[in-house]
Amino acid sequence: MRRTAARRPASCAAFSFCDVDIQLRVRALESLLVDKGLVDPKALDTLIDTYETKVGPRNGARVVAKAWVDPAFKQRLLADSTAAIAELGYIGRQGEDMVVLENTPKVHNVVVCTLCSCYPWPVLGLPPVWYKSGPYRARTVIDPRGVLREFGVSLAHDVEVRVWDSTAELRYLVLPERPQGTEGMTEEQLADLVTRDAMIGVAQVKAPRRW
Ligand code: FE
Repeated sequence: MRRTAARRPASCAAFSFCDVDIQLRVRALESLLVDKGLVDPKALDTLIDTYETKVGPRNGARVVAKAWVDPAFKQRLLADSTAAIAELGYIGRQGEDMVVLENTPKVHNVVVCTLCSCYPWPVLGLPPVWYKSGPYRARTVIDPRGVLREFGVSLAHDVEVRVWDSTAELRYLVLPERPQGTEGMTEEQLADLVTRDAMIGVAQVKAPRRW
């Protein structure tokens, strides 16, 4: 069997939130399946990458970009998130009851599932490894500012941090603040700026350097 090593996965934004033990077990299982010729590692990587960073979060990014450019849509999105998201065709399991949380200069929202890994699949795809880890689930409710700092987000003291605990009934999507200097950008260009982490609330959306 191929030896496995604890290495930082590409999806792990903050290493302290990765459960190395689980990763080792998964890697060991993967090695076994690959050695027996049952799975193609490249196909597996492509599949995971697709759902983790492309298909899912792209949907959420389109919701966010539309809310930024279309005030009426934004109003509907905040009033009845599930229905407004469904207008764009993003419906399905784990997205039946959605709540969109708007970040403002004075309020920053961050989402966690303290019990397991509840996550809005139709708009964000599969949850990242760190989202499912014990440290993220436990520490986000105790010390959200500390957790955010580890993700590279430093908030001013007068910004209120709101932590939302996802459940089987309710799934949350953070509507990040539109970055300054993006006034001339199209909806599609704006969607390209929106990251998965920003829609979980552990990142802020940044304007491109040369715009
Ligand atoms: Fe859960």
